[in-house]
Amino acid sequence: MPFSDLQRDLEGFASLGLLRQRHMLQSPQSPHINVDGKSYLSFCSNDYLGLANHPQLIAELQHGAAKYGVGAGAAHLVSGHTQIHHELEAALADFVGKPAALLFSTGYMANLGVVQALVGREDTVFADKLNHASLNDAMLLSRANVQRYRHNDIKHLAQLLEKTGKGRKLIITDAVFSMDGVLAPLPGLLALCERHDAWLLVDDAHGFGVLGEGGRGTLSHSGIASPRIVYMATLGKAAGVSGAFVAAEQVVIDTLVNHAHSYVYTTATPPALAGAVLASMQLMEQGDGLRAHLQRLIAQLRSGFHELPWKLMPSNTAIQPMLVGDNRQALDLSEGLRERGIWVAAIRPPTVPAGTARLRITLSAAHRAGDVTRLIEALHELAR
Ligand SMILES: *Cc1c(COP(=O)(O)O)cnc(C)c1O
Repeated sequence: MPFSDLQRDLEGFASLGLLRQRHMLQSPQSPHINVDGKSYLSFCSNDYLGLANHPQLIAELQHGAAKYGVGAGAAHLVSGHTQIHHELEAALADFVGKPAALLFSTGYMANLGVVQALVGREDTVFADKLNHASLNDAMLLSRANVQRYRHNDIKHLAQLLEKTGKGRKLIITDAVFSMDGVLAPLPGLLALCERHDAWLLVDDAHGFGVLGEGGRGTLSHSGIASPRIVYMATLGKAAGVSGAFVAAEQVVIDTLVNHAHSYVYTTATPPALAGAVLASMQLMEQGDGLRAHLQRLIAQLRSGFHELPWKLMPSNTAIQPMLVGDNRQALDLSEGLRERGIWVAAIRPPTVPAGTARLRITLSAAHRAGDVTRLIEALHELAR
């Protein structure tokens, strides 16, 4: 039979508790979702500000579709680059304090494109061991030499930089680590870049909209700025829509327009989405109330864990993973919560290192205090 070895692989995967399955939502993304015919209280979206189902953004998208149609119909370099895409790029650059910005269809594609366009065979990429899969794939695609440093370990990175000679040097890191909620030591990384004439690519998928003044992200939160920093953030998480952008010096953006394959060889995102992101930026900038509420929920959850047998990982962001360790146990806990009407995804290897399976609890400004209370109570029941 063709594919019988694939079947065997999947069965092996399943026996390790690693098989992945999709569940079907029958409702918009929000703290209350319908899945497979039942309603659940959900703690596993990246919709950190609760904008994915916001009435103003829905209206803006409808308006945009009426105005621009549905599909962009071509790549940006052919005839798919519209005025609204351009306005959004200018607004994003301005928002994060960079000279220029470029839109990508997804964050995954943005990372592939940036790394592939900026470095090649003669160059070296230095990558945190816990970086997002898209950054890991990006460095392989670029064909650069790869040096992975221990998670957030500036000393280890410094040693690797000392040993590296010729070629461009690009340090790449998540700003907020997606499965831990922990921040990268960005000021220390930037100082190393300056000492070694390296560039710093910061992936702020989980900080943009959530951290920093007006939700400007982790650079603003960390109080750093430098032309050496190439800033990337996604628009499908806190911004609630879809896509991603890279903000940097003009020469970097021009290089991406010319050389980033995932920008050049793909259809532009629908212009109506760009209009929705512009509206979302206003909500984000005026979202101090949402962010303050999110911080209160984080504090409530963390204090609620004091009497539980599990520990939350040390995070002050909306990502609050509960460390379990064993794959099966993580799945059983996720299942136990599900039986109690609560949806929290179990995250297992290879998404996280072996032996660190976890429940990745994420909070959103759309949650209420009572939702967090319900989660803590359900965990108490499971602990008994
Ligand atoms: C989600 C995510 C991405 C990918 O962004 P998409 O727009 O979902 O493709 C990239 N980097 C990190 C750290 C992420 O969490």
